[in-house]
Amino acid sequence: MIVILKENINQEQLESLIQWLESLALNVQKIQGCGQTLLSLLGDTSGLDIDLIRALDIVEEVKRIQEPFRRSGRKFHPQNSILDINGIKLGDGHFQLIAGPCSVESEEQICGIAHAVKAAGAGLLRGGAFKPRTSPYSFQGIGDEGIRLLLEAKHQSGLPIVTEIMSLSQLPLFEEVDMIQVGARNMQNFELLKALGQLRKPVLLKRGISSTLEELLLSAEYILAGGNEQVVLCERGIRTFSNYTRNTLDLSAVPVLKSLSHLPVLVDPSHATGKSSLVPPMSLAAVAAGADGLLIEVHSNPPCALCDGQQALRPEEFHGLAKKIQCIRACLNEGSAGDGNV
Ligand code: PEP
Ligand code: MN
Repeated sequence: MIVILKENINQEQLESLIQWLESLALNVQKIQGCGQTLLSLLGDTSGLDIDLIRALDIVEEVKRIQEPFRRSGRKFHPQNSILDINGIKLGDGHFQLIAGPCSVESEEQICGIAHAVKAAGAGLLRGGAFKPRTSPYSFQGIGDEGIRLLLEAKHQSGLPIVTEIMSLSQLPLFEEVDMIQVGARNMQNFELLKALGQLRKPVLLKRGISSTLEELLLSAEYILAGGNEQVVLCERGIRTFSNYTRNTLDLSAVPVLKSLSHLPVLVDPSHATGKSSLVPPMSLAAVAAGADGLLIEVHSNPPCALCDGQQALRPEEFHGLAKKIQCIRACLNEGSAGDGNV
């Protein structure tokens, strides 16, 4: 980090700034130009409050050289991370389809979908037990019973399960869940992120509706800083002025995140578009953009779904899409190794 000081500053104030920075275990080097003084700070500056330094009387500007996301960034971890979700690998060439209904509704529904998506090539089963809904009057999910039914579907199909946690108090229910999803609305629920950092279980972290990529990486940092290294990022569309689709799929987030971070990156075309007809084309585009996997909503009877039926693929549509994804991956993999599930 570089601190640019104002001209003709009070030397006592400068000395006390240097002393304070050194007390934070930073190596401070003073660079004297003609009229201008710079301080170069070496060491771990990630905990430093940049705005606090900027607000000091003698400071003109502060520039970060290093990204604030040390653990999720590539600088200290250049090789791609590979997650192990109960035997299913994700990342660095291990591509996964994660599919299932928006919400778990009944044993027949979730077990039927589990078998169908597995037959089509999905590596993991998704399904919401606790649903974050905009209106308190909308269906809120079937709660604990949903987790029980997901575990039954896992038992029957052999697919590991992914489901969303909405609050810390639900954590004890997630003991046998293979991957915990943090939804867009909870991306900055820092207490929840800290608690998930204490687990040694994969976490699927969705990008917040209006979050920058830096904010997403800093949220991942909360989990990694606790010692849980199993984090996958998920681009699920952001809020823009475009209202034809439910959200706007920011596909450039995929190559950007993959260049900044070693963590695998998923795309959720279902919530990004909100329309089942747009899910296949955007899925193919996401694979071409380098996504490590897709999170896709599938329902055997979308018009009767209790949640998000308008964006759900039928199992046979999902099957057709999985075949096309295989073709795109084969093109991309020509000449390079890859042993993902699809
Ligand atoms: C979901 O995956 O069911 C969900 C609610 O997603 P998001 O948090 O992206 O809205
Ligand atoms: Mn949904």
